[in-house]
Amino acid sequence: MASIQAIEQTSVHQIQSGQVIVDLNSVVKELVENSLDAGSTSIEVRFRNHGLDAIEVIDNGTGIASEDFESVALKHYTSKLRSYDDLESLGTFGFRGEALASLCALSQLYIITARESDSPRGTRLEFEVSGKLKSTSTIAAQRGTKVIVEKIFHNLPVRKKELEKNIKREYGKVLTLLQAYACISTGVRFSVSNQMPKGVKTPSFSTNGSAATKDNIIKVFGSKSLRDLVSLNLQLEMQTTTYAVSTQSDISSHIVKVEGHISRPVPGEGRSAPDRQMFYVNSRPCGLPQVAKAFNEVYRIFNISQSPFVFANLVMDTNSYDVNVSPDKRTILLHDQGILLESLKESLVNLLESEEQSVPQIRP
Ligand code: ADP
Ligand code: MG
Repeated sequence: MASIQAIEQTSVHQIQSGQVIVDLNSVVKELVENSLDAGSTSIEVRFRNHGLDAIEVIDNGTGIASEDFESVALKHYTSKLRSYDDLESLGTFGFRGEALASLCALSQLYIITARESDSPRGTRLEFEVSGKLKSTSTIAAQRGTKVIVEKIFHNLPVRKKELEKNIKREYGKVLTLLQAYACISTGVRFSVSNQMPKGVKTPSFSTNGSAATKDNIIKVFGSKSLRDLVSLNLQLEMQTTTYAVSTQSDISSHIVKVEGHISRPVPGEGRSAPDRQMFYVNSRPCGLPQVAKAFNEVYRIFNISQSPFVFANLVMDTNSYDVNVSPDKRTILLHDQGILLESLKESLVNLLESEEQSVPQIRP
């Protein structure tokens, strides 16, 4: 027998799933993004034992049509993307059709869902490890979808132990992530709670569906801790030159907008650590270490001993960045990052200079 053999399909699925669902954070991120993609205006996230026993995400979105029950958790089945060419114009968080399939491979997944026309009747779905539909049953349910993830990583013992060992820290990271989604999601009520075994449900934070990001920020973090915020409304002109083989070089320019809020650049208004800084690209929460560095550097010119609170959404052409770098979509590749950073720093210096001199607003 030849020594090189194909890996059996179930094992391939489990190996790949471990890259999509890497930790507690990715479970929650995928489920919340699905709820947002379904047009929900209310999203409740319930943890049991910080997520070790169960994670439940309950939304009031479109629900799932019965024709889709068979394929909802199959790998690479999605309602959001048909072909590679659609990727650039995509308006949803999800597009790979991998999250639910991966959760079937690494946890016990249940879905309860009802369309507007079915409510108050809904359907409870159970799945096999492969993502194949195992059974359905009728159950009372309001319009929307409830996804329940139990026994996360039960078949990946090392990862499960790591998660249990570091659960407090991991749960802290999840809350930070949920805060980022709650602050940017105008018009969506978020509520997050945890319940310990035999304990009562403890609310973590909630928002009330306001149309303004600043209201969300105040609901999430409290008005006292934020003090005086300055609005960010920067327009960065991005000039890029492409040198063609022909004699003509092509200079093109486009605008990147930076919207949001930053602490007023005077002593006492910042924070002792860069612990509350949220960055987004077209409202998608993401880590942008270089952009964060630029914000902190410029802020410290004005307030040397503190770091700013930052909430910054970069609004740009969908073809000027790439989210499809890793299966968990955490890494975003910004084309022309160097030009963007230079332009950002210059605009920030101008803004903070003028805000430093203006009279601070009266605090509520
Ligand atoms: P993707 O989000 O990349 O499409 P997922 O595995 O996360 O892949 O979800 C598969 C499909 O299941 C989605 O395309 C969507 O049609 C449906 N779905 C998942 N979660 C929800 C939800 N909360 N509400 C409505 N539909 C959902
Ligand atoms: Mg998804």
